[in-house]
Amino acid sequence: MRKRFEPAPPDPGIKPGGIRERALRAVRPPADPGPDLVELAGGPVLTPAQRRALNKSGYRKCHGHAAPVGSGPAGETCGTCANLIRKQMARDYLKCKLMQAVWTGGYGTDVHARDPACRKWEKRP
Ligand code: SF4
Repeated sequence: MRKRFEPAPPDPGIKPGGIRERALRAVRPPADPGPDLVELAGGPVLTPAQRRALNKSGYRKCHGHAAPVGSGPAGETCGTCANLIRKQMARDYLKCKLMQAVWTGGYGTDVHARDPACRKWEKRP
């Protein structure tokens, strides 16, 4: 008699590499279930500095710059540029005037006032 949790012998009706075998493989749990999440939850606690570093990764990326960020004059930012537009909707959205042809309604074409200036930076009049 077979033990209760002993793996079942291969079914002679299932062809190796056939559709039934692939379907069975798809529903079987993976051999490596990954880390034990319950154990991880009781693990080491993050320091405030580590938590801040992790939160930075959630920072929304803005790609609305006219040229690579930081390629402009040192010490200048989009916030000091003549091309910065404040698009007023429910709140203000900062956009680069030179990129108006590709503006969308999303944050992907936004810029930040604190972003280092690009090489198309112009002094405000
Ligand atoms: S520095 Fe000026 S030109 Fe460059 S992306 Fe920012 S607002 Fe646009």
